[in-house]
Amino acid sequence: MRYEDIDGWLYLQVVMFMKNTILIIEDETKIARFLELELKHEGYEVEIAYDGRTGCERALKRDIALIILDLMLPGLSGIEVCRRIRRESDVPIIMLTAKDDTSDIVMGLDMGADDYVTKPFAIEELLARIRTALKRSARAQARKRDTITAGNLELSRNEYKVTYAGEEIMLSKKEFELLLYLMENKGMVLTREKILEHVWGYDFMGDTNITDVYIRYLRSKIDQRFGVQYIHTVRGVGYTFRDE
Ligand code: CA
Repeated sequence: MRYEDIDGWLYLQVVMFMKNTILIIEDETKIARFLELELKHEGYEVEIAYDGRTGCERALKRDIALIILDLMLPGLSGIEVCRRIRRESDVPIIMLTAKDDTSDIVMGLDMGADDYVTKPFAIEELLARIRTALKRSARAQARKRDTITAGNLELSRNEYKVTYAGEEIMLSKKEFELLLYLMENKGMVLTREKILEHVWGYDFMGDTNITDVYIRYLRSKIDQRFGVQYIHTVRGVGYTFRDE
């Protein structure tokens, strides 16, 4: 296991064992209270919003790990709440719906809700769905942290893998490190000296033209091969990586 893998794995563990805050958006106080007790019993922190508008505001606070959203809300509908939250956040959303409301379920899923439970529900089922959604979301976050993308180009630090529109690009270790450095500093002009220091190390004693040589390799493997332009020359200074 490489260091980067351990790092990713630790991150996943931390995310999983953190005390997750669940936001309940439900106007029926009885159900909201019941859910609150059950969830607290399971070790979650709980917040309740009794209407859609308040729910939206709370949801966009950063510390919410998951949302239980009742679709039957007065005023701002559950579907609308879902749509507004999804515009700004990837937080997992589990909908509570009436059993016969297939069109609402479909609309909610289309709006980006992750899952649903129909009322009346068995609490064990809801808890299982919550655990699944939290796991999936932790994995997605770990993956997001590992990957850098620019248009169709995707680089995974842990897997040492680069793809363009899903097609793998075979790079040597140095080519990979150079591309990683360029992508991490997207939009910034990097001098040859900086690139040399970062990718080959301070004590590199070889020819400084090596950066130009490796930029040429990358261009032929990415820019020229796929008819795109990510790597730009800044005359007399160095190079810059820009989004396609
Ligand atoms: Ca309701």
